[in-house]
Amino acid sequence: MKFARRMEALKASEIREILKLIENPDVISFAGGLPAPELFPVEEMKKVSVAVLEEDGQQALQYSATEGYRPLREKIAKRMEVIGIGTTADNILITSGSQQGLDFSGKVFLDEDDVVVCESPSYLGAINAFRAYSPKFVEIETDEDGMIIEDLEKALAETKNIKMIYVIPDFQNPSGRTWSIERRKRLIALANQYDLPVVEDNPYGELRFEGERPPAIKSFDTEGRVIYLGTFSKTFCPGLRLGWTLGDGELLQKYIFVKQGADLHTNTLTQRELNKFLEMYDIDAHIEKIKDVYRKRRDVMMDSIKKYFPKNVKYTYPEGGLFTWCELPQEMNAREIFLKSIKVNVAFVPGGSFFPNGGKENTFRLNYSMMSEEKIEEGIKRLGKVLQEEMTA
Ligand code: PMP
Repeated sequence: MKFARRMEALKASEIREILKLIENPDVISFAGGLPAPELFPVEEMKKVSVAVLEEDGQQALQYSATEGYRPLREKIAKRMEVIGIGTTADNILITSGSQQGLDFSGKVFLDEDDVVVCESPSYLGAINAFRAYSPKFVEIETDEDGMIIEDLEKALAETKNIKMIYVIPDFQNPSGRTWSIERRKRLIALANQYDLPVVEDNPYGELRFEGERPPAIKSFDTEGRVIYLGTFSKTFCPGLRLGWTLGDGELLQKYIFVKQGADLHTNTLTQRELNKFLEMYDIDAHIEKIKDVYRKRRDVMMDSIKKYFPKNVKYTYPEGGLFTWCELPQEMNAREIFLKSIKVNVAFVPGGSFFPNGGKENTFRLNYSMMSEEKIEEGIKRLGKVLQEEMTA
């Protein structure tokens, strides 16, 4: 059988493969990026589901508008104000998770061999979504404040066929880092200068444990070139597959056309259920509960890393979100460490695959949202021992 050329670039995600390996319940897993299921509002959702079916059963099971359920879009538009985005329901398209917005971004902007500029490292799920459109990737180094703007400037000046800039400015996956306000502004200035769209992917911004939430990159956009992707996966539940794409006029219209071809519209029932939840309950109180749990888990992970990891392991300190990112001495290989650590029932994701052009095999990502505080300490202790042994070997 002959497949399309694009299939050559697509392979199983390393994370998915690792997740299969660690189905064993004895494994302490820092590998996935899954929200803690004990925080899902199951009882509330039972009531919400009954209410939706009793009040609007027929409509809730019918085809619906491609753009999404308007009352839900209105509520999302309102929620955007806290990060400086003044918008209306008309600028919001409901998608099947923000992952669908990433796929659509590829479809809207990328032809074969076009260039995506992204952070180095970047979200594997986005890299894979874009790969389906056979682009090239230009990675820009990042530090504690986001992309190094001088490197971005140079890349924009020297590279042909750049079609879009993709960034995760808040508690980045995988690095856990957050862009400073100054870098956000400078990014917009450059995007304006080079007439490029910016895809701002922000699933974690609402999970801030300390400090002030910075304004979105979109809030500095005066030319309608930023597409903001949001999701309820981390603040509510990922199984509903509810996200949104926020963009201006003609640009959003392109996403709506693509959405029509992909799946006509997002699940009508779950959109109405979420909307009903937002009417019946206080989602911000729910998010506070999630943050309390994750903050404690983050603290235990950071304290344990400090206590048990060899001193020459570098790591980021996330002020929110789900991940920290570790860097081993240059000559070490995190894939090899992974094979040793899985023998003591501890899993994580080696960092190599977060670099679309390869390299940096001395890095790995740790997630702290899924495991209890006890397990986090025990897992980091075991991993610390593996690292120690490897370094003295
Ligand atoms: N973007 C980033 C940076 C992510 O980490 C994730 C989920 N891991 C997504 C997008 C997709 O999330 P969802 O489709 O569940 O909204």
